[in-house]
Order: sequence, then structure tokens, then C-alpha cells
Amino acid sequence: MANLQEIINADISIIGGGIAGTSVARELSKYDISIIVIEQKHGVGLEGTSTNHSLVCQGGDSLTFRPGTLHAELNIKSIPLWPKLSEELNFKFRRIGGLWLIRDNSDYKKFQKMVSRAFKSTLDPKSPLLIPEGSFSPLRFVDKKELKNLEPEISDNFLGALYDPNLATVDPPEVAKAYAENAKANGVDFLFNTKIKSIKREENKFELHTDNALIKSNIVINASGIEADRVAEIVKARDFSYVPLKGTLVEFDEELGKLINHETTILPRGSPHLQVVSPTVDNKLKAGIHLVMSFRSDKEVKDYAVNHAINVAKTLYPALRFENHITKSFVGFMAMTNPDTGWHDFVIANHDFVPNWINIVLGPAGVSASPMLGKKVVEILTKSGLILKEKSNYNPSIRKKVES
Ligand SMILES: Cc1cc2nc3c(=O)[nH]c(=O)nc-3n(C[C@H](O)[C@H](O)[C@H](O)COP(=O)(O)OP(=O)(O)OC[C@H]3O[C@@H](n4cnc5c(N)ncnc54)[C@H](O)[C@@H]3O)c2cc1C
Repeated sequence: MANLQEIINADISIIGGGIAGTSVARELSKYDISIIVIEQKHGVGLEGTSTNHSLVCQGGDSLTFRPGTLHAELNIKSIPLWPKLSEELNFKFRRIGGLWLIRDNSDYKKFQKMVSRAFKSTLDPKSPLLIPEGSFSPLRFVDKKELKNLEPEISDNFLGALYDPNLATVDPPEVAKAYAENAKANGVDFLFNTKIKSIKREENKFELHTDNALIKSNIVINASGIEADRVAEIVKARDFSYVPLKGTLVEFDEELGKLINHETTILPRGSPHLQVVSPTVDNKLKAGIHLVMSFRSDKEVKDYAVNHAINVAKTLYPALRFENHITKSFVGFMAMTNPDTGWHDFVIANHDFVPNWINIVLGPAGVSASPMLGKKVVEILTKSGLILKEKSNYNPSIRKKVES
């Protein structure tokens, strides 16, 4: 435990112990370099990583991401990595599959377009984003009868669905813990209850000031989630813009969870709010998502946002009494970049004028892309001239408790 006077030296400091900070720490722990993760909370994965829909885009959904973005690239490249990762690190990975419900011909035509684009961009053997054989099952349309077989409680109003058998779910805080514990066992240090308050940059070195300790590092990775802009601003390394997008979700108990097998969703029409119900790894359900741009301090769960989730669930499953099975409702924030253009991309980049400073800003599908985040950081560090020597004794499965 650090005391007031403690000075810590590390080659790389990672600010933030969410899914970004922990997955990057794990990847970097493969190399002979000293690393410290600094987290303001008492453990890992307690902020954005714990307040989301827990879905791992494994097929149809990631194939709809805008081609050419880092968001699409890292998600698609993560698809084949998840099953092996869950075995290596022993966390739950449940393949639930997704049903994109069809109300009419217009939905059907949209889904047809989506499928043809999906196949063009990632299943073409010449594509740089080719998904290896065996890690992806093709999407297919199911009629009303098959839809009812797959989801017996679904409303009779749907004509069928586009079925994506690949979609999966995890418990993101469990995954962050697994990344962190493996990183720790491979030599990464963790400092909890420690908030970065100020940073001094001298030549190409950083001094990170906190209440408990002074951390000196050559390289800083800013993985502070929704605070990434404020942290970057301290060293004038903010070269991205984002708006905090507030999402509200409702969780329902196992009694309902056992009745629904797949992520079920309808395309929103004339509304920014998502309409989705899906099972969790521990057989509960999550529904939502009411989305609104807001101040990041606005963590209040509003009744209208909860009602949105209940209405969505009842539209999809009219015979079930959702109101009687709520276990919690909660708010999460994501950093939505490019609000002007209306589409989103990740930021994972070295700052142009602040050498050795890497910003990570994820937003939607950041958990899904986490197996690739560290690999992207390694690529950036290597390109900037850092020689990373692999450790001979790296162990991909060993774990050591991180929290105090
Ligand atoms: C409603 C909603 C639904 C979503 N659904 C999904 C989904 O189904 N699948 C998916 O893949 N993604 C989903 N996302 C996105 C996903 O939640 C994010 O991409 C991901 O959690 C971001 O992780 P992170 O590590 O960047 O941020 P965080 O998990 O927030 O981690 C940042 C960490 O930095 C720490 N920190 C901040 N400032 C400081 C400081 N000054 N000093 C020290 N520590 C600091 C924080 O305490 C925090 O632990 C969803 C998001 C929302 C809002």
C-alpha cells in the first residue's frame, strides 16, 4: 500500500482500471516492462464497465458497424478471440444468439441489405478483416413458426426474424477482474483508491500526482473512460471530442430470465432509444435502452427511462409480467465521439504533440472490442520506437488477487 511520501517508478502508467485499462495491462504484461494501473475506486470494472448491456458482438451486430472505423475493425478482430480468452481466464461466456425481429417488409429489406454487406466485408477470403472459419456461423432468416420455437413467449405480431447465432454475453466486471488478476500475476502493479489529480510533464517524462503517491513514468495510457477528456486536458493532450451519452437499463430476475433465450430486438423508428431485451450470463434479463445526451454527473434513474425498458419488454413479450420482476434499474455513460457526423469511432492513439501519451476513448461496444485493445496499444508503442521484449515466463491463465 502506497503512503503519502511514496514515489513509484514505472515504465508505463495506465490511468483507469475499467475494461480498457485492465485489458491493455494484461496484453502489456507479456513484455519485459514495468507497468502500474492507477484506479480511483477500490477495485476494477466499477464504472462504465459495470453499467452496460453486457453483450459481446460476435457477428451480425458488429458487421453493421461503419466499415473503415477502428470501432468495426477491433470488434471484428475480437470475434475469434473471445472463446479462447474465456477458457484461458476462466470467465463466463454465454452464446445467446440474437433475433432481429421483423414487423413488415421494410424491416425485412433493411436486414437483407445488412446481411449482404456483412458477407462482403468480412467473409470474403481477400478481406483484411476475414473472420477465420469456425468462429462465425452465417446469419439466416427464420419464419414465424421457427421464431416461436426459438422464443416461445414472443409476441404474435412479428412475421419472423433475422437470426444471428453468434451473439454472446459476459459479465464485464468479471472479465475486467480476470484481465487484471492475470496482469497482476504476470507482474503488473495496481494502485486503488488513487485518483490522478495533476500531472507534470518534464521533457518526455510524466509525474502523476495523487493523494497517496507520486508516480513517475515514461509512457502514460489514459484509459479513464468518461473522464478521458478531463485527464487528457491536464497535459493538453485532448485531441478528441465526445458527448456523454446516458443510457438507462432495467434488470429482471431469473424467473423471467429462464423464459427468454436470445437477445431480441427491433429497429428503432423515429426514436433514438434502443429496443432490446436480452439474457445475462447468470440467467437474468436486461432491457432498454433509453438514450439521451446528458451531463456525466446526471446519474439519476428517471421513471420515464425505466418505463421505456418495461414497455419494450412488454411489446416483445406481452404475456409476461415484467413489472413484478425488476431487480434493479441503472444508468451508464458512454463516450460518443463524432456527435456532429452522427457516427462513432474509438480513439486509441498517441497524441501528436505530447509524445508517449496514448488516449483511449471507447464508447459503444468497448467491452466487445477489449481482446484487441492491448494489441492496438502494442502496435502504437512499437511504431513509436519502443522495443518490447517478450517475457519467457508469461503465463496466460495464472491469476493473482488485485483488490485490497
Ligand atoms: C447503456 C450502455 C450500454 C452498453 N452496452 C454495451 C454492450 O452491450 N457491449 C459492449 O461491448 N459495450 C457496451 N457499452 C459500452 C461499454 O460499457 C464501454 O465501452 C466500456 O465500459 C468503457 O470502458 P472503459 O474502461 O473505457 O471505461 P470505465 O469502465 O468507465 O473505466 C474507466 C476507469 O477510470 C477510472 N478513472 C477515471 N478518472 C480517473 C482518475 N482521475 N484517476 C484514477 N482513475 C480514474 C474510473 O474510476 C474507471 O474505473 C455500453 C455502454 C452503455 C452506457
